This record gives sequence, C-alpha cells and structure tokens, in this order.
Amino acid sequence: MHPPRRVAFVFPIYNEEGNIDLLHRTVDEVVAPLSGRYEFSFVYVDDGSRDASLELLTALADKDSRVTVVELSRNFGHQMAVTAGLDTADADAVIIMDSDMQDPPRVALELIAKWEEGFDVVYAQRRSRKDTVFKRATANAFYRTLNRLASVDIPRNTGDFRLLDRKVVNELRKYRERDRFLRGLVSHIGFRQTAVQFDRDRRNAGVTGYPLRKMLRFAADGILGFSVVPLKMISRLGYLISSLSFAGTLYVAGVKLFAPETAVPGWAFMTIVMFFLGGIQMIMLGVLGSYIGRTYTQVQGRPLYSVASVRTAGRARETSEP
Ligand code: UDP
Ligand code: MG
Repeated sequence: MHPPRRVAFVFPIYNEEGNIDLLHRTVDEVVAPLSGRYEFSFVYVDDGSRDASLELLTALADKDSRVTVVELSRNFGHQMAVTAGLDTADADAVIIMDSDMQDPPRVALELIAKWEEGFDVVYAQRRSRKDTVFKRATANAFYRTLNRLASVDIPRNTGDFRLLDRKVVNELRKYRERDRFLRGLVSHIGFRQTAVQFDRDRRNAGVTGYPLRKMLRFAADGILGFSVVPLKMISRLGYLISSLSFAGTLYVAGVKLFAPETAVPGWAFMTIVMFFLGGIQMIMLGVLGSYIGRTYTQVQGRPLYSVASVRTAGRARETSEP
C-alpha cells in the first residue's frame, strides 16, 4: 500500500465573496471519492480583495484544516496570486483553478487521471467558452499573434487551469521575473505535457477582475516575455523606410533629368515625410522603451510580493517572507 499522494489546489481570489463557499463545497464534493488514495489540500490566495472574501476564507480555514489562506498585502494581480499559491503549496501535484466556477471542478478528476498516466503538466483546454463576443474575439486575436511571434509553443484556448507535477512547480519557483506570463513559462519549462478538453462555463457570481486595461497588460507580458520579434521589427521597418526614400530620390532625379519642366511640390513631400518618420520613430522608441522598462524592473530585483499573513488549520501566522 502506497502512502497517499498529495494534491493541492491553488485558487487566486479577487473579490469572489459570491463564489467562495460554492467553490469550496463543489471541489470538496468532487474530490471526496478519491480521498482514500489522495491527500488533498487547498491554498486560497486573497489578492487584496475589497469585499468580504478574506473573512469568508478565514472562516473556511477555521472549519477545514486542509485549507491554507495566503493574504497578499494588496492587489498584485492574478499571475502573482497564482505564483504565491505555487510557492505555498506543498504537494506532489498542484492544480491551478479560477475561483469563479468558470473552470468546472469536476475536470480536476480528469487532470489527476492524466497525471497518473505519467504526464507532468496537464492543461485544461477549452472546447467552448461562454464569454462575451468581445472577450472571445480579443482572446483569439491575442493567441494567434502570440503563437506567430513567440519563441515557445503556447497551447491555444488554455488558461491557467492545469495540473503541475511537483517537479514542474519546483522549476517554476526558480523563475522570478516580475512581468509574469505563467502559461508561457510552463510551456518554456517543458516536461511531459498533455491536454484535457472541457467546456468553459459562465462566471458564477461577481464581475471579471480582468478589465480591458489588465487584459492589454497581460497580452503585452505574453508577447514581450516570449518574443524579440518586436525588436527585430525596428530594423525591418528601417530597411523599408530607406528603400522608400531611395525610391523617392530616384523619382526626383528622374523628373529633373527627363521632364525638367514638371515641378515637384517640395513642401508637400517634405511634410508627409516628416510626419511619417516622426511617427515611426516614436513607435519604435516605444518598443525600445517596453524592453528597457522590463530590464529595469528585473534589475531592481524586488521580491515578487509580500505576504501579510498565512492562516493554516485555524492558526494565523504573521510573516514577511515571500
Ligand atoms: N484574480 C486575481 N487577481 C486579480 C484579478 C483576478 O486573483 O487582480 C483571480 C480571480 O478571482 C479569478 C481568476 O483570477 O479566480 C480569474 O479572474 P477573472 O475570472 O476575473 O478573469 P476572466 O475569467 O474574466 O478572464
Ligand atoms: Mg473568470
């Protein structure tokens, strides 16, 4: 008889007061039949919620000794919350799941089954999703662009809903970059990876914690973190522009040589060229700026987040360790 294998769930929580109880109850029900063979634990990371989420989680930890609550000192964002959860979880496998019931808890069983087959990363791939047309369209465009530009293959239609074996989690813990795009990092790390298909549900209660602003930032993290194509575009555009001005020179020379009586309206040409070059230069400076900005934040080497407290088995412990 083997000792039970340990499986931890990581739930990032940002203003999910309407979902926490249902989520915990559902996950508990789903995994209950497996509880002989596995030892389950649940890590809830409160990402600076402004509603009653933290109180609900604290109550949950008081009732259920398998629950650990990590309270971040402010809203650090979804990817940081998941990172904090991965750093806290102590198990043979970790399942990352959204807390709004969009990732159906029963799919966790399929993830575990694939893990038992020997896979180290089992990501849940959306066969369908019940999001707004806008969200679906932007997500689609993003993944198409990302896969064209990125240096690693990032599976389409996946979120962070996935199971990671302990060895993948240990590797992931070594990646301390601040602008984090976890699903890219997981692809980058490798190991044996596979997918499980599922239908993504609608958010149960509350509103999305990903307004457009955060979505754009997230998309930028994905692209800038895994591609240097935007940098290469500078030189490509440079070549294009020089050949354009070369063609312009040929045209002016041609007019002077073969049709000296035709006047070239000099000021119009100049103005257009000036605006065009000015614009291109600004865009390119912006591209440079994004990379420089990333270098800067990385060089600062700050810890990724600060934990205000960790509550486990009903006991609160103050800590400032990452
Ligand atoms: N989330 C978080 N911090 C944030 C935003 C979101 O921890 O700043 C959590 C949120 O509670 C949820 C998950 O990340 O569990 C996914 O967020 P959400 O459902 O709002 O995103 P969407 O599904 O709309 O992309
Ligand atoms: Mg959601």
